[in-house]
Amino acid sequence: MSSLPKWINDAVENLLPSKFKDCTITETNYITNYLKQITFVTDLSDIYFEPAYAVGFRINDRDFRNYSPFHFNKEKGSFDVLFHIHDTDAVGCNFINRLSVGESLKMIIPRGKRFFDPDAKIHFSIGDETSLGSSISIQETAEESNASFVCLHEVEDPFVLENLGLYGYYTSKNNWMSILNQINEFLREEKKAVENDEVTFYLTGNGKTMSFLRRYLKEKGVRSANIRSQAYWIEGKKGCKYHCTAALNRR
Ligand SMILES: Cc1cc2nc3c(=O)[nH]c(=O)nc-3n(C[C@H](O)[C@H](O)[C@H](O)COP(=O)(O)OP(=O)(O)OC[C@H]3O[C@@H](n4cnc5c(N)ncnc54)[C@H](O)[C@@H]3O)c2cc1C
Repeated sequence: MSSLPKWINDAVENLLPSKFKDCTITETNYITNYLKQITFVTDLSDIYFEPAYAVGFRINDRDFRNYSPFHFNKEKGSFDVLFHIHDTDAVGCNFINRLSVGESLKMIIPRGKRFFDPDAKIHFSIGDETSLGSSISIQETAEESNASFVCLHEVEDPFVLENLGLYGYYTSKNNWMSILNQINEFLREEKKAVENDEVTFYLTGNGKTMSFLRRYLKEKGVRSANIRSQAYWIEGKKGCKYHCTAALNRR
Protein backbone atom coordinates (compact mmCIF):
# COMPACT_ATOMS: atom_id res chain seq x y z
CA MET A 1 0.00 0.00 0.00
CA SER A 2 1.42 3.35 -0.96
CA SER A 3 1.83 6.20 1.47
CA LEU A 4 -0.90 8.81 0.95
CA PRO A 5 -1.40 12.31 2.37
CA LYS A 6 -3.40 12.34 5.62
CA TRP A 7 -6.27 14.31 4.04
CA ILE A 8 -6.82 11.65 1.35
CA ASN A 9 -6.90 8.85 3.92
CA ASP A 10 -9.31 10.90 6.10
CA ALA A 11 -11.50 11.65 3.08
CA VAL A 12 -11.64 7.97 2.05
CA GLU A 13 -12.69 6.97 5.58
CA ASN A 14 -15.42 9.65 5.62
CA LEU A 15 -16.70 9.14 2.08
CA LEU A 16 -16.78 5.34 2.17
CA PRO A 17 -17.87 4.45 5.72
CA SER A 18 -19.31 1.08 4.57
CA LYS A 19 -15.77 -0.05 3.65
CA PHE A 20 -14.54 0.35 7.24
CA LYS A 21 -15.38 -1.30 10.57
CA ASP A 22 -14.43 -0.38 14.11
CA CYS A 23 -12.94 -3.44 15.81
CA THR A 24 -12.15 -4.07 19.45
CA ILE A 25 -9.26 -6.23 20.63
CA THR A 26 -10.34 -8.98 23.02
CA GLU A 27 -7.16 -11.08 23.19
CA THR A 28 -3.47 -10.75 22.37
CA ASN A 29 -0.90 -13.51 22.54
CA TYR A 30 2.77 -13.61 21.59
CA ILE A 31 3.28 -17.10 20.13
CA THR A 32 6.97 -16.16 19.92
CA ASN A 33 8.57 -12.75 20.36
CA TYR A 34 8.21 -12.17 16.60
CA LEU A 35 4.67 -13.51 16.11
CA LYS A 36 1.68 -11.80 17.74
CA GLN A 37 -1.84 -13.22 17.49
CA ILE A 38 -4.71 -10.78 18.08
CA THR A 39 -8.43 -11.53 18.35
CA PHE A 40 -10.77 -8.77 17.14
CA VAL A 41 -14.54 -8.43 17.57
CA THR A 42 -16.93 -6.37 15.46
CA ASP A 43 -20.25 -6.79 13.61
CA LEU A 44 -19.40 -9.09 10.70
CA SER A 45 -22.99 -9.92 9.71
CA ASP A 46 -22.81 -7.90 6.46
CA ILE A 47 -19.21 -8.80 5.59
CA TYR A 48 -18.26 -11.15 2.76
CA PHE A 49 -15.15 -13.24 3.41
CA GLU A 50 -13.09 -15.74 1.42
CA PRO A 51 -9.85 -17.47 2.45
CA ALA A 52 -6.80 -15.25 1.88
CA TYR A 53 -8.82 -12.03 1.76
CA ALA A 54 -6.97 -9.23 3.57
CA VAL A 55 -8.02 -6.50 5.97
CA GLY A 56 -6.18 -3.17 6.19
CA PHE A 57 -5.20 -1.26 9.30
CA ARG A 58 -4.24 2.41 9.27
CA ILE A 59 -0.95 2.39 11.15
CA ASN A 60 -0.39 6.16 11.04
CA ASP A 61 -1.79 9.23 9.25
CA ARG A 62 -0.34 8.26 5.86
CA ASP A 63 -0.08 4.46 5.75
CA PHE A 64 -2.16 1.31 5.80
CA ARG A 65 -0.87 -2.26 6.04
CA ASN A 66 -2.56 -5.48 4.91
CA TYR A 67 -3.06 -8.55 7.10
CA SER A 68 -4.91 -11.87 6.67
CA PRO A 69 -7.81 -12.73 8.98
CA PHE A 70 -8.59 -16.32 9.95
CA HIS A 71 -11.02 -18.04 12.39
CA PHE A 72 -13.44 -15.65 10.67
CA ASN A 73 -16.75 -16.16 12.52
CA LYS A 74 -19.70 -14.15 11.21
CA GLU A 75 -22.06 -15.33 14.00
CA LYS A 76 -19.71 -14.53 16.88
CA GLY A 77 -18.42 -11.42 15.12
CA SER A 78 -14.78 -12.34 15.70
CA PHE A 79 -11.61 -13.10 13.78
CA ASP A 80 -7.89 -13.49 14.45
CA VAL A 81 -4.79 -12.09 12.76
CA LEU A 82 -1.19 -13.29 13.07
CA PHE A 83 1.25 -10.42 12.81
CA HIS A 84 4.88 -11.06 11.92
CA ILE A 85 6.94 -8.62 13.98
CA HIS A 86 9.87 -8.74 11.56
CA ASP A 87 11.50 -5.50 12.77
CA THR A 88 10.31 -3.59 15.82
CA ASP A 89 11.35 -0.31 14.16
CA ALA A 90 9.18 -0.83 11.05
CA VAL A 91 6.08 1.35 11.36
CA GLY A 92 3.57 -1.49 11.02
CA CYS A 93 5.38 -3.73 13.52
CA ASN A 94 5.77 -0.86 15.96
CA PHE A 95 2.04 -0.10 15.75
CA ILE A 96 1.02 -3.76 16.18
CA ASN A 97 3.45 -4.30 19.07
CA ARG A 98 1.73 -1.53 21.05
CA LEU A 99 -1.84 -2.85 20.59
CA SER A 100 -3.46 -4.27 23.71
CA VAL A 101 -6.75 -5.75 24.94
CA GLY A 102 -9.65 -3.26 25.07
CA GLU A 103 -8.31 -0.98 22.34
CA SER A 104 -10.41 -0.18 19.28
CA LEU A 105 -9.20 0.48 15.77
CA LYS A 106 -10.64 1.00 12.31
CA MET A 107 -10.03 -1.61 9.67
CA ILE A 108 -10.68 -1.78 5.95
CA ILE A 109 -13.10 -4.68 5.53
CA PRO A 110 -11.81 -7.96 4.01
CA ARG A 111 -11.24 -7.77 0.27
CA GLY A 112 -9.03 -9.32 -2.38
CA LYS A 113 -8.89 -11.35 -5.51
CA ARG A 114 -10.49 -14.79 -5.66
CA PHE A 115 -7.76 -17.07 -4.37
CA PHE A 116 -9.33 -20.23 -3.01
CA ASP A 117 -10.08 -22.94 -5.58
CA PRO A 118 -13.27 -24.77 -4.47
CA ASP A 119 -12.68 -27.55 -7.06
CA ALA A 120 -9.23 -28.62 -5.82
CA LYS A 121 -8.90 -31.98 -4.08
CA ILE A 122 -5.56 -31.01 -2.49
CA HIS A 123 -4.79 -27.45 -1.36
CA PHE A 124 -1.06 -26.76 -0.94
CA SER A 125 -0.19 -23.44 0.74
CA ILE A 126 3.44 -22.28 0.61
CA GLY A 127 4.86 -19.20 2.33
CA ASP A 128 6.50 -17.66 5.40
CA GLU A 129 5.32 -16.13 8.68
CA THR A 130 3.13 -13.59 6.84
CA SER A 131 1.33 -16.51 5.15
CA LEU A 132 0.31 -18.34 8.33
CA GLY A 133 -3.08 -16.58 8.62
CA SER A 134 -4.02 -17.24 4.99
CA SER A 135 -2.84 -20.86 5.30
CA ILE A 136 -5.14 -21.35 8.30
CA SER A 137 -8.13 -19.85 6.48
CA ILE A 138 -7.43 -22.04 3.41
CA GLN A 139 -7.09 -25.08 5.70
CA GLU A 140 -10.37 -24.29 7.48
CA THR A 141 -12.31 -23.97 4.20
CA ALA A 142 -10.64 -27.02 2.60
CA GLU A 143 -11.56 -29.18 5.59
CA GLU A 144 -15.20 -28.00 5.48
CA SER A 145 -15.44 -29.55 1.99
CA ASN A 146 -13.47 -32.69 2.94
CA ALA A 147 -10.56 -31.73 0.68
CA SER A 148 -6.95 -32.27 1.77
CA PHE A 149 -4.69 -29.50 2.97
CA VAL A 150 -0.88 -29.45 2.98
CA CYS A 151 1.46 -26.57 3.74
CA LEU A 152 5.11 -25.62 3.56
CA HIS A 153 6.27 -22.70 5.69
CA GLU A 154 9.63 -21.02 5.94
CA VAL A 155 9.72 -20.04 9.62
CA GLU A 156 12.32 -19.56 12.33
CA ASP A 157 10.81 -22.11 14.68
CA PRO A 158 8.76 -25.24 13.71
CA PHE A 159 7.06 -25.06 17.13
CA VAL A 160 4.95 -22.21 15.69
CA LEU A 161 3.35 -24.55 13.14
CA GLU A 162 2.52 -27.15 15.77
CA ASN A 163 1.08 -24.46 18.02
CA LEU A 164 -1.22 -23.28 15.20
CA GLY A 165 -2.26 -26.79 14.10
CA LEU A 166 -0.61 -26.30 10.71
CA TYR A 167 0.89 -29.69 9.97
CA GLY A 168 3.00 -30.10 6.85
CA TYR A 169 6.45 -29.29 5.57
CA TYR A 170 8.76 -26.89 7.34
CA THR A 171 12.01 -25.19 6.36
CA SER A 172 14.33 -22.83 8.17
CA LYS A 173 14.68 -19.29 6.75
CA ASN A 174 16.35 -18.73 3.37
CA ASN A 175 17.06 -22.42 2.89
CA TRP A 176 16.38 -22.78 -0.84
CA MET A 177 17.63 -26.35 -1.10
CA SER A 178 15.31 -27.46 1.65
CA ILE A 179 12.29 -25.67 0.09
CA LEU A 180 12.95 -27.31 -3.29
CA ASN A 181 13.54 -30.73 -1.73
CA GLN A 182 10.22 -30.55 0.10
CA ILE A 183 8.37 -29.42 -3.03
CA ASN A 184 10.00 -32.21 -5.05
CA GLU A 185 8.97 -34.75 -2.41
CA PHE A 186 5.36 -33.53 -2.63
CA LEU A 187 5.42 -33.60 -6.46
CA ARG A 188 6.74 -37.17 -6.38
CA GLU A 189 4.15 -38.34 -3.84
CA GLU A 190 1.21 -36.63 -5.54
CA LYS A 191 2.34 -37.10 -9.18
CA LYS A 192 -1.03 -38.47 -10.35
CA ALA A 193 -3.06 -35.77 -8.56
CA VAL A 194 -0.84 -33.01 -10.02
CA GLU A 195 -1.17 -34.48 -13.53
CA ASN A 196 -4.95 -34.68 -13.12
CA ASP A 197 -5.16 -30.99 -12.09
CA GLU A 198 -6.42 -31.95 -8.64
CA VAL A 199 -3.86 -29.88 -6.71
CA THR A 200 -3.97 -26.09 -6.32
CA PHE A 201 -0.82 -24.34 -5.07
CA TYR A 202 -1.13 -21.08 -3.13
CA LEU A 203 2.08 -19.03 -3.02
CA THR A 204 2.24 -16.03 -0.67
CA GLY A 205 4.82 -14.19 1.47
CA ASN A 206 8.19 -12.94 0.21
CA GLY A 207 7.67 -11.72 -3.39
CA LYS A 208 11.07 -12.94 -4.59
CA THR A 209 10.63 -16.46 -3.21
CA MET A 210 7.07 -16.57 -4.50
CA SER A 211 7.95 -15.69 -8.11
CA PHE A 212 10.89 -18.11 -8.11
CA LEU A 213 8.67 -20.95 -6.85
CA ARG A 214 5.98 -20.09 -9.40
CA ARG A 215 8.51 -20.51 -12.20
CA TYR A 216 9.90 -23.68 -10.62
CA LEU A 217 6.47 -25.33 -10.32
CA LYS A 218 5.69 -24.49 -13.95
CA GLU A 219 9.02 -26.03 -15.03
CA LYS A 220 8.02 -29.14 -13.08
CA GLY A 221 4.82 -29.41 -15.12
CA VAL A 222 2.27 -27.71 -12.87
CA ARG A 223 -0.22 -25.76 -14.98
CA SER A 224 -0.47 -21.97 -14.39
CA ALA A 225 -4.19 -22.35 -13.70
CA ASN A 226 -3.29 -24.46 -10.66
CA ILE A 227 -0.98 -21.85 -9.12
CA ARG A 228 -2.42 -18.88 -7.21
CA SER A 229 0.11 -16.34 -6.00
CA GLN A 230 0.30 -13.02 -4.25
CA ALA A 231 3.37 -11.21 -2.87
CA TYR A 232 2.81 -10.11 0.74
CA TRP A 233 6.07 -8.18 1.07
CA ILE A 234 9.00 -7.26 -1.12
CA GLU A 235 12.55 -6.70 0.13
CA GLY A 236 13.36 -3.00 0.34
CA LYS A 237 9.75 -1.92 -0.23
CA LYS A 238 7.57 -0.43 2.50
CA GLY A 239 4.01 -1.68 2.62
CA CYS A 240 3.03 -3.44 -0.59
CA LYS A 241 1.83 -2.43 -4.01
CA TYR A 242 -1.60 -3.83 -3.08
CA HIS A 243 -3.13 -0.36 -2.92
CA CYS A 244 -5.64 0.66 -0.28
CA THR A 245 -8.04 2.76 -2.38
CA ALA A 246 -7.89 0.45 -5.42
CA ALA A 247 -8.57 -2.53 -3.21
CA LEU A 248 -11.61 -0.79 -1.72
CA ASN A 249 -13.35 -1.05 -5.07
CA ARG A 250 -13.06 -4.83 -5.21
CA ARG A 251 -15.14 -7.17 -3.21
C1 LIG B 1 -2.80 -9.39 0.92
C2 LIG B 1 -1.75 -9.32 2.02
C3 LIG B 1 -1.93 -10.06 3.21
C4 LIG B 1 -0.95 -9.99 4.23
N1 LIG B 1 -1.15 -10.72 5.40
C5 LIG B 1 -0.22 -10.60 6.40
C6 LIG B 1 -0.44 -11.28 7.67
O1 LIG B 1 -1.48 -11.95 7.90
N2 LIG B 1 0.52 -11.15 8.63
C7 LIG B 1 1.66 -10.40 8.43
O2 LIG B 1 2.51 -10.33 9.34
N3 LIG B 1 1.87 -9.76 7.26
C8 LIG B 1 0.95 -9.83 6.26
N4 LIG B 1 1.16 -9.16 5.08
C9 LIG B 1 2.46 -8.49 4.91
C10 LIG B 1 2.55 -7.13 5.57
O3 LIG B 1 1.51 -6.28 5.10
C11 LIG B 1 3.96 -6.57 5.19
O4 LIG B 1 4.97 -7.37 5.76
C12 LIG B 1 4.15 -5.13 5.60
O5 LIG B 1 5.24 -4.63 4.82
C13 LIG B 1 4.49 -4.95 7.07
O6 LIG B 1 4.60 -3.56 7.32
P1 LIG B 1 5.77 -2.94 8.24
O7 LIG B 1 5.39 -1.50 8.40
O8 LIG B 1 5.96 -3.80 9.44
O9 LIG B 1 7.08 -3.03 7.39
P2 LIG B 1 7.44 -2.04 6.11
O10 LIG B 1 7.67 -0.65 6.60
O11 LIG B 1 6.36 -2.21 5.08
O12 LIG B 1 8.78 -2.69 5.60
C14 LIG B 1 10.06 -2.29 6.05
C15 LIG B 1 11.09 -3.22 5.45
O13 LIG B 1 10.94 -4.51 6.03
C16 LIG B 1 10.94 -5.53 5.06
N5 LIG B 1 9.79 -6.43 5.38
C17 LIG B 1 8.47 -6.18 5.28
N6 LIG B 1 7.76 -7.23 5.74
C18 LIG B 1 8.67 -8.17 6.10
C19 LIG B 1 8.57 -9.49 6.64
N7 LIG B 1 7.38 -10.05 6.93
N8 LIG B 1 9.71 -10.17 6.91
C20 LIG B 1 10.94 -9.62 6.67
N9 LIG B 1 11.10 -8.36 6.15
C21 LIG B 1 9.98 -7.67 5.88
C22 LIG B 1 10.82 -4.86 3.70
O14 LIG B 1 11.96 -5.27 2.96
C23 LIG B 1 10.91 -3.39 3.94
O15 LIG B 1 12.00 -2.84 3.32
C24 LIG B 1 0.21 -9.18 4.06
C25 LIG B 1 0.36 -8.44 2.88
C26 LIG B 1 -0.59 -8.50 1.88
C27 LIG B 1 -0.40 -7.69 0.62
